[in-house]
Amino acid sequence: MEEKVISLPMIALRGLVAFPDTTIQLDLGRKKSIAALKNAVDKGSSVFVATQKDLSVDNPTPQDINKVGVICRVVQVTEVANDSVRIIINGLETAEIIDYINTDKFFYVTVSKQEYAVADSIEVEALLRRARELMAQLGLSSTKTDKDFLIRIAGIYSPNEYVNMVANEIVYKDDEKQDILQTLDTAQRLAKLCSILNKEVEIARIDRKIATRVRRQIDKGQKEYYLKEQIRAISKELGEDEDEIAELEDLVKKAKMPAEIEEKALKEVRRLSKMAPSSPDSAVIRNYVEWLTDLSWNNKTDDNKDLKKAKEILDCDHFGLEKIKQRIIEYLAVMQLTGGLHGPILCFVGPPGVGKTSIVKSIARALDRKYVRMSLGGVRDEAEIRGHRRTYIGAIPGKVIYMMKQAQCINPVLLFDEIDKMSSDFRGDPASAMLEVLDPEQNFSFVDHYLEVPYDLSNVLFVCTANTVESIPAPLLDRMEIIELSGYAEEEKIQIAKQFLLPKQEKLHGIQEHSVRITDDALRGIITRYTRESGVRSLEREIATICRKVALGIVNEGITGFEISDDNLESYLGIAKFKNDYIDTKDEVGSATGLAWTAVGGTTLTIDVTLFDGKGEITLTGMLGDVMKESARTAISLVKSRAREYGIDPAVFQKTDIHIHIPEGAIPKDGPSAGITMATAIMSAFSHRAVIKKVAMTGETTLRGKVLPIGGLKEKTLAAYRAGIRKIIVPEDNQPDLKEIPKEVLGDIDIVLANDITTVFDNALARL
Ligand code: ADP
Repeated sequence: MEEKVISLPMIALRGLVAFPDTTIQLDLGRKKSIAALKNAVDKGSSVFVATQKDLSVDNPTPQDINKVGVICRVVQVTEVANDSVRIIINGLETAEIIDYINTDKFFYVTVSKQEYAVADSIEVEALLRRARELMAQLGLSSTKTDKDFLIRIAGIYSPNEYVNMVANEIVYKDDEKQDILQTLDTAQRLAKLCSILNKEVEIARIDRKIATRVRRQIDKGQKEYYLKEQIRAISKELGEDEDEIAELEDLVKKAKMPAEIEEKALKEVRRLSKMAPSSPDSAVIRNYVEWLTDLSWNNKTDDNKDLKKAKEILDCDHFGLEKIKQRIIEYLAVMQLTGGLHGPILCFVGPPGVGKTSIVKSIARALDRKYVRMSLGGVRDEAEIRGHRRTYIGAIPGKVIYMMKQAQCINPVLLFDEIDKMSSDFRGDPASAMLEVLDPEQNFSFVDHYLEVPYDLSNVLFVCTANTVESIPAPLLDRMEIIELSGYAEEEKIQIAKQFLLPKQEKLHGIQEHSVRITDDALRGIITRYTRESGVRSLEREIATICRKVALGIVNEGITGFEISDDNLESYLGIAKFKNDYIDTKDEVGSATGLAWTAVGGTTLTIDVTLFDGKGEITLTGMLGDVMKESARTAISLVKSRAREYGIDPAVFQKTDIHIHIPEGAIPKDGPSAGITMATAIMSAFSHRAVIKKVAMTGETTLRGKVLPIGGLKEKTLAAYRAGIRKIIVPEDNQPDLKEIPKEVLGDIDIVLANDITTVFDNALARL
């Protein structure tokens, strides 16, 4: 019978637990271990191996070593360098140290062999199956399990052999291994193994999940990197990418932007360099950087400081307008002294074609500055002024920055044309953005939504034009100095045509200067029969028509000298568009001629009143504004209060309906200045006295018949004159304005100053 207790040399293992039924390879370095091995090899005996409890101990004593270990057969011994030996041993069976015989040179111990116990073989069988299942799962889910090992254990049916082999291969922690080694009840050994395997399966599952996630991330990153590299390689082949980035960087540096803006631009370029050139984002960034580089950040042109020269330039471009030119020169003088533009913004107001735009162009020429023009007509969105944020698709800067890019300097003359035509809607109020642009306190750091960086507008000379001041938003108006340009009288127009428009059109049509002669009579004919305007735009157009015909004559027939007189005017311009005296000369009951002042200058306006049998109701038609409706009612009450003086039976008002109509209904009309005209028409209708058609009138009236002053007298007078009217009734308080009216007009027209409605009626109503 085999002996149960034997004495053997012992090797203490560090960080390793041996199991029966397994092959173990280990390197021995400690002297005691090598001596023990030598003893065994010499005697041809087995060795006992047991694991030390703490692997950091170098020279363990019996207390440091686990009592249970494994008896092993030495299979192979190989000497490795420096007193180190590599051995391969086979685990045979478990044994427990009973005694240490020698501990001096090497451990020599007496051990007692141990046997496994099986209490319930069914339970063992069940646990073994479970363990096998778990191993199979682990084999599937863990990449770490050795496939050879899996094949090997598949053929093992002895439960303890199975436990030993699996514990040796799979169990990770030394103390768990030792626990299994020490346990002798087979069912318990299997149960412990199963619980560890369970844990390992779970760990493998989580491990696999993490691995998949990491791999997916790496895969995606790699794919993108790979594609980007490919695009880059293609662009490089085409010579695009690198050159473009370097070029952009160069442009940014050359643009001489303020440091922080340059830094931002360079940052955008760096972002761009990391992107695929074909991506939509890169187009957005490139566009943005190009905007920054295209703008001028510090290029300032030198102003002409010679005010005499400036005046000469203004005179050379425009006829008359003396007061306005003088004001401009004063403005330039202040600008020179203060070295800045702290004064109010000049705003030229007047009907179309009076030279508002061209005078601003002249200012730029006189100052030797660049000129840019921005039309505000129809602008209703704040973004048009201030741009869209870059996050919008297709965003661009606002018009102000666009104009500055066009100007290519920081101090142009910027004309805001038609500032009165700006409106606002739900998209925001452009006026508030304009306020920021025009306000010297804020405009040195104007921020466009698209640019995102401040741009200095404080060197820009802003000038505005408008047809009327009424529709300019009040806060803007507050910052402006209004300079009015009213229309021109006939004589002025003739001079403008002779001195400016004709030479200009000759040049434009390639006709030698002075080869076209238009007599004064012909010009007068054009002014009265072909145009009806305050300014000279249509006049210029008619002269252009003449020049076209002249050009044709020169080319076709070789004619050199042309004289256009009133007689041959029709052959150039066709049939006259207006009759000279277009106001009906026949006096009528209930129809009076008023004078109005609209955005396009002065005009005559007829007010018709018709009466019906009825109940005293009032009807007003012709697109009248609220103020005009009120003055109609005032006029009716006034007429009622004066009824007896003009022989009207007051009872008639109860039985009569009144309809007041002002023709040309498409044009909205408002303002109080038609008051006396309405009162006259109504009085005429009730008193049956006709209104003298050759008389026109303008003035506000109170309920008690006092005539109040009105605006735009010069415009209105000129309009009446153009219409062939030679007598006008105006409020007495407007007398000071008469001096603005050209002398030739004043000399030709009879002006009646009225203080009370009686004066008006007396002069306007024909005798019965
Ligand atoms: P606005 O801006 O007031 O509508 P513009 O400035 O466009 O008018 O003027 C229309 C044309 O009339 C231009 O060709 C301009 O040169 C000419 N013009 C207007 N006023 C004068 C003037 N006083 N002297 C010479 N040309 C004039």
